[in-house]
Amino acid sequence: MITATMLELSVRCLNLFGSRQSFSVLNYHRVMPNTDLCSEQALPPELFAEQLRHLKQHFQVLSLPEAFALSQRQQLPKNSVVITIDDGFADCFDYVFPLLQQHGLTATFFISTAGLNEGYLWENQISQAIQQAPSQVQAIEMLGVSYQIDSADSRRSSIAALTEQIKYQPVATRRTSITQLLEQTGQPKMVHQFVNADQLRQMHQAGMTIGAHTVNHPILALENPEQARLEIAQSKTELEQIIGAPIEFFAYPNGKYQTDFTDAHIEMVRELGFTAAFSTDWGVAETRADLLFRLKRFTPWDRDPARFCLRLALNNLADRSHFKIFQSRVRQHVSS
Ligand SMILES: [Zn+2]
Repeated sequence: MITATMLELSVRCLNLFGSRQSFSVLNYHRVMPNTDLCSEQALPPELFAEQLRHLKQHFQVLSLPEAFALSQRQQLPKNSVVITIDDGFADCFDYVFPLLQQHGLTATFFISTAGLNEGYLWENQISQAIQQAPSQVQAIEMLGVSYQIDSADSRRSSIAALTEQIKYQPVATRRTSITQLLEQTGQPKMVHQFVNADQLRQMHQAGMTIGAHTVNHPILALENPEQARLEIAQSKTELEQIIGAPIEFFAYPNGKYQTDFTDAHIEMVRELGFTAAFSTDWGVAETRADLLFRLKRFTPWDRDPARFCLRLALNNLADRSHFKIFQSRVRQHVSS
């Protein structure tokens, strides 16, 4: 059990060793009540609010443009943190935005623009189709594999397995797979579950940063170069038209460097005029020229706020030479 005073002291001590050039970038996806989604990707609003309170108390939460400018001048507060939320689901506006405002904080929202136009992303089609499939449909056949959907549990695990399989297909193949799925389940009634243009404008006007996250959320490494470039460019242009300001930051979908995107995509992002781009690889964001277009992020998974804060403070240090010993311990969760 870590007491409040112990926490305060430990985080303060650790923050003394922080850098003036690098900062932690938290990466959230969903904030919503009663979720069936994988727990690490979705937080209940009360827990997110609690994390915001602790972040405010122990760290310097900066907007991305602010952190970026200060780090390039090596003037960052040593305990700097930036909040980012990927994809653009409706809970960004319904829960994240009001909670940030309540706490006087800002964040960056990376938006996949297909969701703005359609109201959902490809993965929502899979889950809705299976959830709404008539009870006489007992299984789905896809690429020679049979996915059982004859109970609530099997529906849940088949949604997860099919989503994982279809995620690693190029966008065109994904569409074919989803058509094959819908031929078996019937057309589901789609619920609108994405932010809309109006909400994005409100968020931008209230000081939130809007970033691009492609159109269809593809694994860029699986697309041909023209298609990959179009995905990146089009999301930037669409978002700029909506908010009436330049989109400076980009986040790669899925985001693992050398697996989901490569140096060729880094070059595209640079050429398209972005200032910097984010991966989902774990670490700190260091704004050195050679790292600008694959900045790392890190989100502690601890539900206990004291542990959350300690892990975040350690993350800020873990890439520094004297603290490398902590690296695997702090970020052990991902490699295990
Ligand atoms: Zn994403």
